[in-house]
Amino acid sequence: QKRRFETTAAESTKSSTGRVILVTGTAGFVGYHCAKFFKKRGDGVLGLDNFNPYYPVGIKYDRAQDLEDSGVYTIKADLNDRSMLDHILQEYKVTHVLALAAQAGVRYATKDPASYVASNVAGFVQLLEACRFCDPQPRIVYASSSSVYGLNTVSPFSESHQVDKPASRYAATKKANEMIAHTYRHIYGLSMTGLRFFTVYGPWGRPDMFAFSATIKIHKGEALKIFQGPGGSELERDFTYIDDIVQGCVASVDRIPASTKETAHFKVYNLGNKDPVTVTYMIECLERAIGKKAIKNYVPMPPTGDVLKTSADVSLATRRKAQLVNVKAEKELDYKPTTSLQDGINKFIAWYDGYYKDGLTKEMASYVPY
Ligand code: NAD
Repeated sequence: QKRRFETTAAESTKSSTGRVILVTGTAGFVGYHCAKFFKKRGDGVLGLDNFNPYYPVGIKYDRAQDLEDSGVYTIKADLNDRSMLDHILQEYKVTHVLALAAQAGVRYATKDPASYVASNVAGFVQLLEACRFCDPQPRIVYASSSSVYGLNTVSPFSESHQVDKPASRYAATKKANEMIAHTYRHIYGLSMTGLRFFTVYGPWGRPDMFAFSATIKIHKGEALKIFQGPGGSELERDFTYIDDIVQGCVASVDRIPASTKETAHFKVYNLGNKDPVTVTYMIECLERAIGKKAIKNYVPMPPTGDVLKTSADVSLATRRKAQLVNVKAEKELDYKPTTSLQDGINKFIAWYDGYYKDGLTKEMASYVPY
């Protein structure tokens, strides 16, 4: 087992570009796609994931297997396994880290808030600790989230606004990532770029997220619960196609400068789509791609907790409708999301139909997202 790991990890990190990238969260949705892209263009890539059971793990093992077939090895380890991190970073001379591993999802934070702190705060700190002792230090791009905008009444969503009112413990840990990153830049001179992703969807997506869970329900003929805002207003979201997010992650990795204590880099970027759309429009795109009508059950938004955040998002989304979320990323990363929602959904459904051609797996058929 050990020998196989060493051999495969060594193969996986062979690079024709000079870059050796540790991608954490490669059994997850975004990490899988980014790792695949890097490998294809010749970078050395190594994955790390603890395969946590937040959603059905079958899809995680399938992603990791598919990556391994493309030459990317995923080490099964936790971010809190510091000696493993030290080993990986030093043995394979990692030049860049794309830190995507995290306890994702907003609602699960109500059930197990400590898991967010363990992975997203303690695990993130372990990773940065391991990086700071490397010579040279790897440059680090990490995932934040649009959820950091929370209840702040800032408009448009701009990186220059102070955001200090997270509406979920998930969002609080993501904001904590940005602040912790800043301290590592300030004290140790690590180069750090944070990316605030806006609701990502696409092939190999997350079963707890709307596009995936709604597709399962439409197929089963089950009703979709759709929250309405005050006065029956429509919810809006920036659904962003995975290829556009990969483009932003790749540009961030390619442009992050090597640091010295004096020149260490610290940036945060929004990575979203150009136009927020209503959830109803998203469902129409799904209906067209699937070729079946959804049963829609409109319900008033509950006044507290999780959904209050959605409510805040709605009003913010409405106010920033005409304004670009990605101004800074467009200027500094040349980030240009190009995939229309219908095109992206068509690609997602084509993948879904192929992946589940023999029907849903047992664990997915009985899965109820939080
Ligand atoms: P994902 O859950 O599919 O992937 C995350 C992976 O990290 C999982 O495979 C999980 O097993 C792994 N992981 C969790 N804790 C770990 C730990 N302690 N040690 C090792 N591995 C661990 O989520 P995703 O959608 O691919 O998200 C990637 C990143 O982007 C996350 O940081 C997430 O918070 C952030 N993000 C995602 C979205 C989105 O819409 N998908 C939006 C905003 C931010």
